[in-house]
Amino acid sequence: MFELNTPIQYLKGVGPKMAQRLKILGLETVQDLLFYYPRKWIDFSQTVPVSQLRIEEIVIIKGRIVQIKTRRSPRKGILITEGIIEDEKDHQLPVVWFNQPYLAKSLKQQGTLLFRGKIDFDFAKKQKVMLSPIVERQEGIFPIYPETEGLTSKYLRRILLPLLNITSQINDFLPNTIKESEKLIDLPTAIGEIHFPQNFQNLQKAKERLSFDELFLISLRMLVARRELQKEKAPKILIPEEILQKFVKNLPFKLTNCQKIAAWQILKDMVKPSPMNRLLEGDVGSGKTVVGAMAVLSIFKAGYQSVWMAPTEILATQHFKNISYLLKPFGLKVALFTSATSNKKGTASLLLESDLIIGTHALIQSGVKFRKIGLVIIDEQHRFGVKQRTYLRQLSLSQHKILPHFLSMTATPIPRTLALAVYGDLDISILDEMPAGRQKVITRLVEPQNRQKAYDFIHNQVKSGRQVFVICPLVEEKEEDRINLFEAERKAVTSEYKKLSETVFPDLRVGIVHGRLKSKDKQEAMEQFSQGKIDILVATAVVEVGIDIPNAAVMMIESAERFGLATLHQFRGRVGRGKHQSYCFLFAQIWNDKVQARLKAVCQFDNGFQLAEKDLQLRGPGELTGVKQWGVPDLKMASLSDIIMIKKAREAAENIIVKIENYPELIAKISNFQKERHLE
Ligand code: ADP
Ligand code: MG
Repeated sequence: MFELNTPIQYLKGVGPKMAQRLKILGLETVQDLLFYYPRKWIDFSQTVPVSQLRIEEIVIIKGRIVQIKTRRSPRKGILITEGIIEDEKDHQLPVVWFNQPYLAKSLKQQGTLLFRGKIDFDFAKKQKVMLSPIVERQEGIFPIYPETEGLTSKYLRRILLPLLNITSQINDFLPNTIKESEKLIDLPTAIGEIHFPQNFQNLQKAKERLSFDELFLISLRMLVARRELQKEKAPKILIPEEILQKFVKNLPFKLTNCQKIAAWQILKDMVKPSPMNRLLEGDVGSGKTVVGAMAVLSIFKAGYQSVWMAPTEILATQHFKNISYLLKPFGLKVALFTSATSNKKGTASLLLESDLIIGTHALIQSGVKFRKIGLVIIDEQHRFGVKQRTYLRQLSLSQHKILPHFLSMTATPIPRTLALAVYGDLDISILDEMPAGRQKVITRLVEPQNRQKAYDFIHNQVKSGRQVFVICPLVEEKEEDRINLFEAERKAVTSEYKKLSETVFPDLRVGIVHGRLKSKDKQEAMEQFSQGKIDILVATAVVEVGIDIPNAAVMMIESAERFGLATLHQFRGRVGRGKHQSYCFLFAQIWNDKVQARLKAVCQFDNGFQLAEKDLQLRGPGELTGVKQWGVPDLKMASLSDIIMIKKAREAAENIIVKIENYPELIAKISNFQKERHLE
């Protein structure tokens, strides 16, 4: 009899070789295997007759093999197994497999089978063909596991089947009250059904239970972290009202309403005796820096130091200049600390003397000593790892026995509902309104037949002195054909460059920049564009086009459907930085309702938050593209587009947290839960 902690290699069918492959996936015990969920489930009763096949589609055909044999391909030496499937209407379809010679034997004279695979077109023989289908003997719901070299779903199913009768050993940690109120099935049943669903209703219940678990545990962990932090002590910083008023009056602009609110939330946090732990979110250009500067000023008045960490030297230097200027009238000593400055003589004493230290990763190299940190600001926090973000807090704790206040900033808009799941341990301030006077970039989705019109428009823009970006698509790596990503990108951008420079705009100066260029050439292209020596820059997304070119007024994006909405929004942000009315043109290669809805949203919303919200709505469940940048912890089952589930899980966690002492199993569970969050 197996137990949950039985090592996997004792299972029938798992030899040392397979055990090794499973180990690569992190699967070492029976329990690991049971909690390794399928990626999707295929209904093998949805078959399609051979007469109705369409190229590129993945379908299931019911039929028998009437002919099959294996040969070695002369060119590459691979084994090709070719067969013919005949469906119930006697229609025939060729089928091929690669390097699976045993199939020729095992599929011969088998009667009716089910084949699931992609339909392709064989140009040599001018006929449709099914590529490498998986074969099942009977109809039913079959789970497909994440694909891994040498481990098929069939194999996993085979070794999982005998484990079904020990799912009862799984400890169901979720309190009954929650299971009842949320109408969730118990964990052993859910695990059984997720691997071997009896029907789609049961599968749905299993998914619900396992998704809930993930979101609930994340929420609970974050609430615990939050509670722990509130028990800690931090410097109590009184609000220096007069000075702040003077600071605001000195600014060359009026603060936006949301800037005022955010600043006030931050200042109030720091009056409390426990550490602030706040995230300031706002689109690029929404004015996060001044808000941070106000916090720095208050910290200074209370006699503490602030440390402001930025991800690049350029950004740190820019902050140093701007913030020094803003704070100069108040007598703060500001220091710049980067790898370039850190070795200079006198740096150590500079760090002790300064009231604000602005720097890069150099700040978190060992040996740096401060006087008394009261506030840590992490700018562009998503660019730092968890350890990097928390290093300064820990340092401060060990050097001064007190936790500093903590403010992180990000320009990645995340919908409020989702923020609950992702940043549940943080308080959040949002700058969702741009400073007055920013111009709106006119965004249009260009229908294929209007391409020439757009080119004419661009031509006119250049003739009147403006510059143009053309972004070429990121070619995705497909599951089936693993092509070299950079190579494909280079091709796309080079051929676009050729077309534009030779055919469309032969009279204009067209430049090119992509990831495969040497960094010297890259810089040179950017430099030329920035000096106005290039009119149109054809670029890929891999290239950081972060530099500010106020004269650029048109952003043209090819195959826009391949990009996430947030990315499109960021591309658009590269124009409209100067005084000229700017434009963003979206072109799509694939033109269907879904694509149009997504791209129209980009035209409709110029606000990153609204766009992110829309993106989440439009994205089907389980499609997680673009979500990574929000720093979402790995979810195996839950979908972040399931807002209702997120809310429910959060509420359940809030109810439990007040009496968590009564649930030792839950406490154990969350302390095991991977520690990868903001505040560890
Ligand atoms: P981000 O949120 O991207 O960090 P910054 O703080 O760098 O934005 O601000 C972008 C620009 O907007 C800066 O030049 C800043 O001086 C300016 N700015 C900030 N707040 C306002 C405001 N309320 N009105 C006008 N300009 C502002
Ligand atoms: Mg900034």
